[in-house]
Amino acid sequence: MRLWNSLSLLLALLAAVHLCADEISFERDGNRIDLKGEVIATHEAGVILHTPDGKMWPIQNEEIVQRAKTTAPFQLQTKEQLIETVLAEMPPGSQVIETSHYIVAYNTSRAYAQWVAGMLERLHRGFTSYWTQRGMNLEEPQQPLVALVFDNQDSFAQYGQAELGDAAKSVIGFYSMHTNYVVMFDLTGGGAGDASRRTIGIRDIQRLMSRPDFQWSLATIVHEATHQLAFNAGLQQRYADVPLWFSEGLAIYFETPDVSSSRGWRGIGQVSAPRLKQFQQAARESSQPFLPDMLINDDSLRKAATAMDRYAQAWAVTYFLQKRKPEQYDAYLQELSEIQPLHDPSQAERVRLFQKHFGADLTELENEVRQMMLGLRP
Ligand SMILES: [Zn+2]
Repeated sequence: MRLWNSLSLLLALLAAVHLCADEISFERDGNRIDLKGEVIATHEAGVILHTPDGKMWPIQNEEIVQRAKTTAPFQLQTKEQLIETVLAEMPPGSQVIETSHYIVAYNTSRAYAQWVAGMLERLHRGFTSYWTQRGMNLEEPQQPLVALVFDNQDSFAQYGQAELGDAAKSVIGFYSMHTNYVVMFDLTGGGAGDASRRTIGIRDIQRLMSRPDFQWSLATIVHEATHQLAFNAGLQQRYADVPLWFSEGLAIYFETPDVSSSRGWRGIGQVSAPRLKQFQQAARESSQPFLPDMLINDDSLRKAATAMDRYAQAWAVTYFLQKRKPEQYDAYLQELSEIQPLHDPSQAERVRLFQKHFGADLTELENEVRQMMLGLRP
């Protein structure tokens, strides 16, 4: 009996410890940062701290100056608290639109923010029903999803500079694993003070966005918002080492925009004309196998010289697997979703996992992908 009592006490203590928040102070770029949160992953080189505002902070051991446990439990911010946090990070005078799943913070016209909010909700609906129909169990996001919409590219780039550096000037949207936000700017152009913008209506925006020259930009935003959904619905974990071709292929699979439909996101799984063209061109220029390298070489998607071809190949393999081997794809996805942050599988493990689901013969599989792609019309 006494043993039982001490055991229960021990278990109670363990539970309490688990509920305690972590306090970490660290120094980065000459600044001291004090954070309270929950350490969600530990590695010999450092930790990842999840803070109540939903951010995740990879912190190196050598940066840490102080670390302690508090007795207060770790709690994520409520929607109202999160709105306050987000507004404090936006330019003064910014406002928010709340939808069922999103907080859209903006300093541009309300009509544009409403248009973005509507598009995000449609994507959310399409994404959810797509995976539910496939029998995947999606998780509910722990907090509302946040989108920031800046009035122009300059203010967007200014915000993005801290995370992306100078690349912020050349992209039109991004998803941040650190903040968990998807960030974009008003594609209709003009400054916040522009009188014409105040009269712009949702119909004007819809008309503009259905123009072919806007479709690629729109696809990028859908792409980034898909990353956000994948990370928040439990398909992937932030800072987990999921092969980059897989995350990117998945996002491209959803990116085909369909602004004309009010019913949902019909673009899911359609042929991506620009990616297909790119794939076909690369395939004509070279018969060198790409698959073995793509599975392990994330940098090939990051480097400008190879990125365009690699994104197209990542899309092609995803398209092929989703259409021809959906059950195997879902089982592979399920296993990737279980990779914990900071526990990076080796290159050999990556290849082994792929082969476990899709067969050992990578050459044969790649040939099938090529054949399918050469037979498709954009
Ligand atoms: Zn991407």
